[in-house]
Amino acid sequence: MKSCDDVRTCAMLLCAGTGSRTKLAYNKILHYIGKKTVLELTLEAFAQSDASDLLLVINPADEAAIKELSAPYENVRLTYGGKTRTESVRNGLKAASDCDVVAIHDGARPFVSPSLINATIASAIKHGSGIAAVRSTDTVKEAENGNLKKSIPREKLWNVQTPQTFLFEQIKKAYNDVDGDYTDDSEVYSLAGFTPKIVEGEYGNIKITTESDLFGFMPEKARIGTGFDVHELVEGRPLVLGGTVIPHEKGLLGHSDADVLTHAVMDALLSAAGLPDIGVLFPDTDKATEGISSMVLLERVAEKIKTAGYALGNISAVLMAQKPKLAPHIQTMRQNLSNKLRADVTQINVSATTTEHLGIIGEEKGIAASAVCMLIRSESESGI
Ligand code: MG
Repeated sequence: MKSCDDVRTCAMLLCAGTGSRTKLAYNKILHYIGKKTVLELTLEAFAQSDASDLLLVINPADEAAIKELSAPYENVRLTYGGKTRTESVRNGLKAASDCDVVAIHDGARPFVSPSLINATIASAIKHGSGIAAVRSTDTVKEAENGNLKKSIPREKLWNVQTPQTFLFEQIKKAYNDVDGDYTDDSEVYSLAGFTPKIVEGEYGNIKITTESDLFGFMPEKARIGTGFDVHELVEGRPLVLGGTVIPHEKGLLGHSDADVLTHAVMDALLSAAGLPDIGVLFPDTDKATEGISSMVLLERVAEKIKTAGYALGNISAVLMAQKPKLAPHIQTMRQNLSNKLRADVTQINVSATTTEHLGIIGEEKGIAASAVCMLIRSESESGI
């Protein structure tokens, strides 16, 4: 019997998917989790395993990006996938013809461990196959017409993962023998008369499929910020809030246009990015910013946030004013702010409240605003 040392194992990483179910505009394997892409995390695990060659089955549209990301890894080859997973595996098997064992793995399972990969390879050498699978932890029921019928005994149920590792000649024969589309290689192997052997997998070896899989990894990339501002209401000044001039007998006093909402928003953004506040960046002693539109300042702040490596998650702001009624203007404010931040209007929310005639706001001496925002560590050029 051969040992791991004298068999040639090719790891076939299926990377030809799209971001559709994750709602990404790009292939999910190119998504960053922390400082690395899903693809790099997967490649790292395989580079540390007993696999001697790495074959990436890709979508031609991703070729340039994948080439760049995989360049630091040794023995990597690229081949084009097909329209379905089955077609991609078939193409991969053609390109992998010089190996004894092939480990087929979803490129979007970045948390696989080298030891699990090795266990499937060892099983394939010994038994012909090694299929990573974990025992089902959920109760699985049979249903009919929307009604639950009965539980299926849990001890018989396994959730199948990848890698699924096979003797090359056997899996090649299996794919030659079947027609149609399959989502699971062990099924094709089984249909050809071979017996798929389970290797106890890892619960952490998840496949990134839906938006929530990605959302789970967001916190390490997200930063929150908060901003607050208040300006005095005086006669003879226009009232500018969120870049909109609002008809009122009084306006806010300040060095710039005194747009208190935009000031709070800018401070929230700067705070989240760990940058100095607007009082430092745009001091009221600077003649150049006298009477300036705060929308212009917001554009400058957006540029600073982008340079610092962040994209906007969302902003939530509150305006505090006894008068005038602000509700009719909220949508315009959101639109103005989102235009300057090159964000979608849904990323910015503004609400308004009175203070029930209490304090300086309630006595109509001033208007205040507070804002919180979330920034996401950006790896792309989109957004701010
Ligand atoms: Mg201010």
